[in-house]
Amino acid sequence: MPDTARTNPTVPNDLDSFWMPFTASQAFKENPRLISKAQGVRYTTIDGHELLDGTGGLWCCNAGHNHPTITKAIQDQAATLDFVHNFNQGHPLAFEAAARVTTLAPGFDHVFFTNSGSEAVDTALKIALAYHTARGDGNRRILVGREKAYHGINFGGLSVGGLGLNKGQFGTLYPSTAHMRHTWLPENANSRGLPEHGAELADDLQRLCDLHGGQTIAAVIVEPVSGAGGVFPPPVGYLKRLREICDAHGILMIFDEVITGFGRMGTPFAFEAFGVQPDLVTCAKGMTNATVPMGGVLATAAVRDAFRNGPAKMPDLFHGYTYSGHPLASAACIATLDAYRDDQIFENAAAMAGPWEDMLHSLTDIAAVMDVRNCGILGAVHLKQDGAVGDAGRAAYAGLWDAGLIVRPVGDALCLSPPLTITQDHVDEIGAKLRAQLAG
Ligand code: PMP
Repeated sequence: MPDTARTNPTVPNDLDSFWMPFTASQAFKENPRLISKAQGVRYTTIDGHELLDGTGGLWCCNAGHNHPTITKAIQDQAATLDFVHNFNQGHPLAFEAAARVTTLAPGFDHVFFTNSGSEAVDTALKIALAYHTARGDGNRRILVGREKAYHGINFGGLSVGGLGLNKGQFGTLYPSTAHMRHTWLPENANSRGLPEHGAELADDLQRLCDLHGGQTIAAVIVEPVSGAGGVFPPPVGYLKRLREICDAHGILMIFDEVITGFGRMGTPFAFEAFGVQPDLVTCAKGMTNATVPMGGVLATAAVRDAFRNGPAKMPDLFHGYTYSGHPLASAACIATLDAYRDDQIFENAAAMAGPWEDMLHSLTDIAAVMDVRNCGILGAVHLKQDGAVGDAGRAAYAGLWDAGLIVRPVGDALCLSPPLTITQDHVDEIGAKLRAQLAG
């Protein structure tokens, strides 16, 4: 018997028991926006309001919602092997998923599975520290991040993250961190794709080496395209310069590809699109098309091999989650990669990047718009401040919701990351809704 409360939900009586993530709970309770269905690029609310999902879930539903291949694989797996752990034993699908993921990532032979992007980041940072320990270079303890960076909310990721609001409630976390400046420069306003100015900001890493000693820095972590901080594509030459400085000082370079991974730049991973090879890559979100939580850290053979010299009977990394390589997540991951391949999702992202850019930049004539940024199928329409910071963003989000489009406001930047299945019609629809809301 179908449970009607589940298939046909209404507003719950109790909106307080669920302590919601990153939510202004009072405002939510006054206007609860509740979604009960999804298909393709669209969501439907409990009262039948249809929304174009301009955020691809939360930067993660790259193949669109409820993809039949992925749904079936999860259902079948749940009925076959619900769970087994992977500590000194395991199940074949985790190995298959790992092989499939690394096949998409040139230069990477290994993946460590986690359950989220935050866990992937903290895992990558710990691998970096342990890598230096394994090589007898345990004085390297400084982890370098960047202003405006979002690396999740666990202790390590928050420590290297660069969003003050996220850090303020918690005080000092991992103590040995340093931060580079962000790359948002006024002269780059309305750049199409990668901004021209700012490659020299990578020299901040050199300055940190001068200050602390390059031999004390374990790793630098950056999002190749900064996402949740407001979408900031890297200046031309910036990432390459960062790589050079890492090489000069033996610093591991970590790309946080939780958003950019799995096709958002038109290539499986952004590092390929930018022609810069990091040492570790974090991923999550699009790994399972967001159906079952899963994240991972890709490691090169050089990093992995540093861990092979210990006693054979002992774990080579004292780290792991109960659900690392969970059977349902592994099945979802394999089916997701099948869907990406069979539906040519990454190819579509590459083909639509131009029309996407054109649409976004057609909005620069609107008086309320301060800056438009884009890269791959990622974008932000940054509004002029109107009242307190975030007021304009929140108002636009509410108006666009009513008009049938979901955006993700970050301060006054409206961030967009639709499914990579978008067509020209969807792009036009997003553009028309944005124009009607912002110029209206
Ligand atoms: N890193 C980046 C770059 C992200 O964008 C995010 C999430 N938006 C995370 C890490 C954290 O991922 P999760 O929310 O799955 O923990």
